[in-house]
Amino acid sequence: MAVLPILITGDPVLHSPALPVVDFGAHLRALVGDMFETMEVAPGVGLAGPQVGAGLRVFVFDWTDDDGLRSRGVAINPELWITPTPAGAADEDEDSEGCLSVPGERFPLLRSNAAILRAVDLDGVPFEITTTGWLARIFQHEYDHLDGTLYVDRLEHASSKAASKTIKKSGWGKPGLSWLPGVDDLGE
Ligand code: ZN
Repeated sequence: MAVLPILITGDPVLHSPALPVVDFGAHLRALVGDMFETMEVAPGVGLAGPQVGAGLRVFVFDWTDDDGLRSRGVAINPELWITPTPAGAADEDEDSEGCLSVPGERFPLLRSNAAILRAVDLDGVPFEITTTGWLARIFQHEYDHLDGTLYVDRLEHASSKAASKTIKKSGWGKPGLSWLPGVDDLGE
């Protein structure tokens, strides 16, 4: 297994819809193994295929909630159902989200509180997870990646302006930029 470079916002792979996984062979297994390792070293709670340059509908997640319950897995060809996004403004503390492809930054974003994820695992076996709170947020964030959407694309006006400014100031927003977890000091 290997830690993979994580693409930074601006690379076309991050902004294009990913393709369904059809080949469940050794290549996919190796990719997912590398994604788990990359997520761990970054560190992150989720990582999607496009973030490591693989335009495939696959993401990994690893989240431990306040009660110590750990949810770790891989979702391949996922479908996601969500409850309506709550009304109101995103809270700077409660709703602050980050992304390894916009490294070191956080901006508040309202998300649906509940989600149902349906996907298959590495063996092509279907599974379903019904969840709320932060794991539901992670699923929405990672699922978005598979459609070429970053969380910064969803921000309210003020946060959106701040994010654009940060991206420009950092020299991001163009193709071919990446950072290597464990080597570059760009994580959180
Ligand atoms: Zn992300």
